[in-house]
Amino acid sequence: MIDNHGRKINYLRVSVTDLCQFRCTYCIPECGIKQLDHRELLSLEEIYTVIREFTMLGVDKVRFTGGEPLVRKGILGLIESVSRLEKIKDIAMTTNGALLEKMAKPLKNNGLQRVNISLDTLNEKKFREITRTGELSDVIKGIEAAKKEGLGVKFNVVLMKDFNDDEIEDLIELTNIYDADVRFIELMPIGENQGYAKAHFMSCEDILKKVDLKPVVSDDPHAPTKYYRYGNAVGRVGFITAISSHFCGDCNRMRLTSDGKLKPCLHSNKEIDLRNAIRSSEDLGEIIKSAIQSKPEKHYLLENQIIDRGMSRIGG
Ligand code: SAM
Ligand code: SF4
Repeated sequence: MIDNHGRKINYLRVSVTDLCQFRCTYCIPECGIKQLDHRELLSLEEIYTVIREFTMLGVDKVRFTGGEPLVRKGILGLIESVSRLEKIKDIAMTTNGALLEKMAKPLKNNGLQRVNISLDTLNEKKFREITRTGELSDVIKGIEAAKKEGLGVKFNVVLMKDFNDDEIEDLIELTNIYDADVRFIELMPIGENQGYAKAHFMSCEDILKKVDLKPVVSDDPHAPTKYYRYGNAVGRVGFITAISSHFCGDCNRMRLTSDGKLKPCLHSNKEIDLRNAIRSSEDLGEIIKSAIQSKPEKHYLLENQIIDRGMSRIGG
């Protein structure tokens, strides 16, 4: 479906839970977040219903995210059902990777094609510090399992001044080691941890000044990532410049939160409730169409707008 600003909307990001076994400093408060009552969460059947409705409006690409999508019970069955939808071409997941060692095989067997794995540091001590509860070795085992099963792998690295700015070249080296893209993401001031984000922000431009990278022509004109190559590495180095240079003109996505809100834009507080619409048998297709039409032309994050929901509750 084409929105009011001429953008073709074909990508739905689905947060299946706002819970996570990690507490990344920039994402979730140390005490965790209040668990939603199960009535407030969309059931797996309701999530499937929304995805199916979106495919009838032209969505052919779905990404499962969270919180940590692999802690949601029944995720494998949901992926399997979605993979059977006729219009679906691409099913991906963003994960912290900690449960992938066990789950890579069933995920692949149930129709998952690709995983983006978050990896902000290659140092065990710093990994514990940033995730507060995570072990780097679990994620490394998860990466190996995903590669072994033939899942497409990309790494997401959130750039943080005075935390991982001394590891940029080592993280870029992953494009050689794993034949996988490494994408650097600018830290966004969202949710409860805005102070941390403001104190540790560094722009992707800072990396380009330090490391010799050659631009690569993108195979997807709508991707928010600008790609480069480091020497002869097989994988690419990507930059997601959500803050320093926004890519709203090419934005092709909608987001569904685990409590059933549709978010036309990550950086806006506007939400459209689908949970009650599903439960009261309203015309879901019409509500989704009008939500797509309400997608803003661009975000206003730098104009002092405060985004209330943290990333774990939106589904980054
Ligand atoms: N738990 C999964 C994971 O960590 O990959 C999926 C959910 S997490 C919210 C999705 C992505 O959002 C991760 O790559 C994470 O690093 C990123 N993220 C979370 N908070 C962020 C922030 N304030 N700014 C930029 N990226 C953020
Ligand atoms: Fe969990 Fe992902 Fe947020 Fe880290 S970034 S706390 S792994 S949801």
